Amino acid sequence: MTATRSGEQETAVDSKLVLVVNSGSSSIKYQLVAPVSGKVAAAGLVQRIGEDNGSIEHTDGDRTMTEEIRVADHTAGLRLAFEKFAETGRDLTVAGVTAVGHRVVHGGEIFYRPTLIDDRVLRTISELSTLAPLHNPANVRGIEAVRTLLPEVAQVAVFDTAFFHGLPEAARTYAIDRQVARAHGIRRYGFHGTSHEYVSGQAAQFLGRPADSLNQIVFHLGNGASVSALRGGRPVDTSMGLTPLEGLVMGTRSGDLDPGIILHLMRAAQLDISGVDRLLNRGSGLRGLAGVNDFRELRRLIDAGDADARTAYDVYVHRIRHYLGAYLIELGGVDAITFTAGVGENNPDIRADALAGLQGFGIAVDPGRNTAADRTARRISPADAPVAVLVIPTNEELAIARAALAVTEAEPGSQ
Ligand code: ADP
Repeated sequence: MTATRSGEQETAVDSKLVLVVNSGSSSIKYQLVAPVSGKVAAAGLVQRIGEDNGSIEHTDGDRTMTEEIRVADHTAGLRLAFEKFAETGRDLTVAGVTAVGHRVVHGGEIFYRPTLIDDRVLRTISELSTLAPLHNPANVRGIEAVRTLLPEVAQVAVFDTAFFHGLPEAARTYAIDRQVARAHGIRRYGFHGTSHEYVSGQAAQFLGRPADSLNQIVFHLGNGASVSALRGGRPVDTSMGLTPLEGLVMGTRSGDLDPGIILHLMRAAQLDISGVDRLLNRGSGLRGLAGVNDFRELRRLIDAGDADARTAYDVYVHRIRHYLGAYLIELGGVDAITFTAGVGENNPDIRADALAGLQGFGIAVDPGRNTAADRTARRISPADAPVAVLVIPTNEELAIARAALAVTEAEPGSQ
């Protein structure tokens, strides 16, 4: 995209910088991004907000600053980040930020595109906390903190659910009493939408084909993991549902379960709501099965002969193949299967095992391409295979920065 621009235009557009904020319950991840070139000017992470052993790590070019410091709340965390920006010659309160893009986890039925944040929007994001009690309150705190520090700068919410807003009714509906479902907003929403949208667009670009001409399956395999099926660029199904708990096996989340397990746990193991929540969100998945949630540690355990780690790996792959089969049928054929995020981009074993023995469906992985030490967008299927198997690095921050810039440019007076 940038290659066609003249150097002068490039500089003019690149002078716009968007601060991207991903605010969690006890952390804030941030990046200062040039939305056109995709260059990251600076990035950082504030951790353990509200605890005694807080910290910040801030990187600008080749300079990285770390500090152990108590961070009282999100506003204090962002203020600390702004101090680090200032120390490296970027005073964000004086100049330079065109917009702030916030990753907001749940947009419910209400938000399905990047949205300029005003009081009403902020209130609604807060009200949607009933659907995402672990995430939306933290997102609200991040937004409020930036408002305090940069009151004049436009802020845009980019929703993790938005891309899946138009899921077909059959794919988004749970077979429970429809009155109960309506009363409580119970439907499948889908998450990681920013990544699925970005990566599927990149895949189409990589193949030199318009996105609306392709059937795609995208596996986002990070700590959280999800898969989507897209027809002509639009999602027709995705593995996460009302919450990010459904679907694939994840680092610490169970993914799909018999819902009866929850009832059984409450009756037989006397777990209360927060006990079940903790078990399924933080103590399950790879961590629950093997004691570790990082794939590199899992690999070390498997290599050392740990049987639980082996089972965890096999369950992880089994679930991936389960969804692959379902989505192949839903789509009636696929042009491209793409792997992204930490595990998807870096773990050749998972990619090979997920797609093993599917030559009859036109799906194959070339071992040499799959294990090549390449970190850029690439094809790992044999050149003549009917289905393109791709590895595409995701970049949610860049997608959020671009969305935030687009909204501020489209809304007069917002800058
Ligand atoms: P998050 O969902 O937190 O953004 P990531 O997309 O960073 O997560 O993915 C985290 C997972 O990716 C971890 O299980 C980690 O082991 C795996 N991972 C990251 N980098 C590598 C690597 N170079 N080799 C193998 N696995 C990796």
